[in-house]
Amino acid sequence: MVDLNKDVKYVKTVGPNRVKLLNKLNIYTLKDLITYYPRDYEDRSKPKNIYECVDGEETLIEAMVAGKMSEMHKGRMTISKLTVKDQTGTCYITWFNQGYLRDKFQAGKMYRFFGKISIKGNRVEMNSPVFDEIEQTKNTGKIIPIYPLTFELKQSTLRRIIENGLVEVKNQLPETLPDYILKNNNLWGINEAIEKIHFPVEFSDFNKARERLVFEELLSMQLALLKLKNNYEHDENGIQFNKQVHMSDVINILPFRLTKAQLRVLEEIDRDMESTRPMNRLLQGDVGSGKTVVAMISAYKAVKSGYQVAIMAPTAILASQHLEGFQGILNQFGIRTELLISSITKKKKTEILEKLQNGEIDIIIGTHAILEENVIFKNLGLVVTDEQHRFGVKQRSKIASKAQNPDIIAMSATPIPRTLALILYGDLDISIIDELPPNRKKIETFAVRKNMEERVNNFIKKQIEEGRQAYIVCPLVEENEEMTLKSVIELAEKYQKETFSQYKVEYLHGKMKAKEKDDIMKRFKDGEIDILIATTVIEVGVNVPNASIMVVENAERFGLAQLHQLRGRVGRGEYQSYCILKYEGNSETIRQRMKVMCDTNDGFIISEKDLELRGSGDFFGTEQHGLPEFKIANLFEDIGILKKVQKISLDIMEKDPKLEQSENKKLNMLIRDKFGKRIEI
Ligand code: ADP
Ligand code: MG
Repeated sequence: MVDLNKDVKYVKTVGPNRVKLLNKLNIYTLKDLITYYPRDYEDRSKPKNIYECVDGEETLIEAMVAGKMSEMHKGRMTISKLTVKDQTGTCYITWFNQGYLRDKFQAGKMYRFFGKISIKGNRVEMNSPVFDEIEQTKNTGKIIPIYPLTFELKQSTLRRIIENGLVEVKNQLPETLPDYILKNNNLWGINEAIEKIHFPVEFSDFNKARERLVFEELLSMQLALLKLKNNYEHDENGIQFNKQVHMSDVINILPFRLTKAQLRVLEEIDRDMESTRPMNRLLQGDVGSGKTVVAMISAYKAVKSGYQVAIMAPTAILASQHLEGFQGILNQFGIRTELLISSITKKKKTEILEKLQNGEIDIIIGTHAILEENVIFKNLGLVVTDEQHRFGVKQRSKIASKAQNPDIIAMSATPIPRTLALILYGDLDISIIDELPPNRKKIETFAVRKNMEERVNNFIKKQIEEGRQAYIVCPLVEENEEMTLKSVIELAEKYQKETFSQYKVEYLHGKMKAKEKDDIMKRFKDGEIDILIATTVIEVGVNVPNASIMVVENAERFGLAQLHQLRGRVGRGEYQSYCILKYEGNSETIRQRMKVMCDTNDGFIISEKDLELRGSGDFFGTEQHGLPEFKIANLFEDIGILKKVQKISLDIMEKDPKLEQSENKKLNMLIRDKFGKRIEI
């Protein structure tokens, strides 16, 4: 049997240098090598006649070498020229600095050339093509895989190495999926799939190969999550929080009445907390639905039962805001809450760490800083992560590992379609707050183009004259952060010095020091700033009830779910609020996306539409954190396969939750292989 775990260095043509380069691609074993999937393909199998060649196209020709290669030197450059012919015409080929080609070609012989055509007048030229003798298929004559990253490895070298790897495993890979699954879903076996994903003969091969591999990847992920959930359900080693501690103690002193949905969710949490099984619950609720207070009441229960609580927020601003809210209510119960973010002084930090360890702090609220090694709890019992989609499964389990089986609540304001929820949070129970606190007004939303700028600006001024405040949001495109930063600052200065010179305008972006950001945010909250220009750092959770208008620049660059989150920053007070989406571009998709935003305030509808209409991989905006990493599957393109897989997974888990029937043995191995011990019973 082939040893898939053997070191890649034993594969033919892999020497010490190449091992290093392969390692950089995370390829260490034979298995890593053959599952390093192409990102694209180039069809070098269908030759064109020379007279049919089109300027600018990568083309395969089959032609006879017409004469000797000529060589010229220009400075340090060597230019080699070759003339080739087929029945329909002549093509002039040029290579630069490829002196070794000198003796490669024999006049009168046929070769295949693949390269980019340029046509000058009637003259057909090709630059730096790859080639083969006519009976060979090293570089041409087939569909060629293009691999994602290769560092210093040339595509052709990596291709050769993978080819060698494939020879070793040919028809010997042990099947990873049960027979019945292959049959029922008309899927290829593993051997055929692996071979053809690299070297499809036809493009339809690629589709079949990919379908099989995507299916397997999604199935193992989905089953693993469901199995994990099943494990939790049978786990009796969770903390049993004190039944004598009543959430109503806090509920009764709140300045508002909880909504029915909040109460229902709290009941679910209360039941979980009192039971012996560890809670793993996703708390979903649209922006402004009041998740924080639910977390606070749960924290109260944990603390009064004798445990510590960790609240993890994605930004320092948000953490500070939570701190304020928590202290405002919980101080009167003698509960000690502290903030742990990276900007606090070293002295303060040392003090906090000490107090956490000896139990003098009951609730710690912070950012990723809480995950650091040196943060040690006396007896952590409840972990709450806010805006969960930014924390991956890994981080979730990291924080959970700071305690024995703590209860976990993951809060998210990103309403996601059920299909995605099942693959992103399939291991969690889900509670939904599907109701907003009363008296919230619908945020009036308008999508406008550049020519409306002046009217928009006047509208902002009018709102400010009435005593309100405004947000102006600029997109931050990750690949080009420097550039966007510059444009945010420029825009801010234009607004400051010209458009809104009579008002107090400030700007806020992710690159600023935490202290500066907090300071500006605080001044905005206190009403000292009229207009806050910001990148998406304000996206999550920030609460300024007096802000009644939000303008989004280049709204077309945001995902709908993200726009919805942003919009949730206004409409938090008693005032009628507005969201103005400035957009550019004419495409039908953009128009439809804007229309969805104007038509509805319902996050779930928006997320479904986002999935349907999404243009550019931006379901969660540019923040992809928290999405599981897939080798080949793409949750959006493969939604059809995903749905199929989910149905099958749910069926299997119902019939054989421990995956112990013989027909499901392979599945058990598959997920154990991928996810290790955590999944075991
Ligand atoms: P989110 O779910 O977006 O995190 P928050 O928890 O920040 O929402 O709540 C938004 C605002 O609504 C806060 O100011 C909060 O105090 C307030 N709030 C929460 N629940 C209620 C309620 N039942 N009635 C009135 N206001 C509420
Ligand atoms: Mg929140």
